Amino acid sequence: MQLNSNIHLPGFEAFTIQKSEEVDGIYYLHVDREVKNHRCPACGAYTSNVHDYRVQKIQHTRIFGRQVYVFYRKRRYVCRSGCGKRFYEDNPLVERYQRQSMEMKQAVAMELIHGKSFRDVAHRFDTSPTTVIRRFDYITAPLLDETQTLPDVIAIDEYKGDAGGETYQTIIADPVNRKPLEILADRRKETVKNYLRKHGERVKMVVMDMSHSFKAAVDQALGHPIIIADRFHFCRYIYWALERVRRQEQNAFDDYDRKKCKRMKHVFYKQPETLTDKQAWYLERYLQKSAYLKRAYQLKEAYRLWFETAKENGSKHLGATKAHLYEFYDLVRESGVTEFEQAIGTLQNWQKEIMNTFGFELHNGYIEGINNQTKVLKRNAFGFKRFDRFRAKVLLHHQYKKLDIRVA
Ligand SMILES: [Zn+2]
Repeated sequence: MQLNSNIHLPGFEAFTIQKSEEVDGIYYLHVDREVKNHRCPACGAYTSNVHDYRVQKIQHTRIFGRQVYVFYRKRRYVCRSGCGKRFYEDNPLVERYQRQSMEMKQAVAMELIHGKSFRDVAHRFDTSPTTVIRRFDYITAPLLDETQTLPDVIAIDEYKGDAGGETYQTIIADPVNRKPLEILADRRKETVKNYLRKHGERVKMVVMDMSHSFKAAVDQALGHPIIIADRFHFCRYIYWALERVRRQEQNAFDDYDRKKCKRMKHVFYKQPETLTDKQAWYLERYLQKSAYLKRAYQLKEAYRLWFETAKENGSKHLGATKAHLYEFYDLVRESGVTEFEQAIGTLQNWQKEIMNTFGFELHNGYIEGINNQTKVLKRNAFGFKRFDRFRAKVLLHHQYKKLDIRVA
């Protein structure tokens, strides 16, 4: 197939296609520009005196599904004002000394930011993983919007990124505008503390899980700001308690029910109103088999009622929320379900921070979304094992989620 010279090709508006040929499924385009007045970069005089030509071979993005190479016959002008300067013509196709067109580099950059693996991007742009990794390293510094001063409200969470030889990283996020601000290399207290000391002078509130090391880091670096326990994290203690009871109790069931109960475990966590008849039947069956499991289940439901009411009460009826929480503690103590007694021990230790959740109506649930996105990243981990790349990848992906960018 011949590409006609007056066909419109994106990126070639300023060029004349002198010749096009297809060899073994690859397009070769031979292009140049018209002679034009250019301003001498040395003395500022105008010239259209041609000095000579050099042919530059450039890889371009695919067109009609075919690989494209461009032979650009690049013109050099010579200044005639007496300065004698020789210089290349302007062109919107390729930068000096580059072997890929700007269009190609731009397309690669967008793909690198938007969640594909290096290997995949390399494959789709007919280039090598090393080349796209080099490109990624090159674009990250100018594109990344580095957070210097943290906002008034931040969220801290651990983050299972498996990067730089550490299983866990720490993510610092903005829970109000829902965006990640920083990823720290590990979750050690010293790491978090040092970072907050440097960037946290404005921070007044911190949403976090119930980690003593985070709390100590925050208190020491920021001088006891308001700490808000994240609701997802404290609710987990109750669900874990029920989970432990279920596992232990089903062990006493016969073989069939033990396996079935394990498979049907979701019926214990779903809201009872939303269970199908079949699910409700199984739930009832297992609760009948173990009085201890039944007590644990009822406690979980009592907790859920407290939690839903507390959310509705919000900041207006904190007193009622607190009184209701004490009633729940009493229920647990009377029940003798030790797994739940342990769980409320944790809730009591963090009670002030838990109550703050409702007082300030803040949480960091959206970080879970970031975590899920990272799982996809990890499946395509090639190249992202290095911490600096991992960090850049996560931050860039979120910063440019809704934006189109121009990459220089
Ligand atoms: Zn000149």
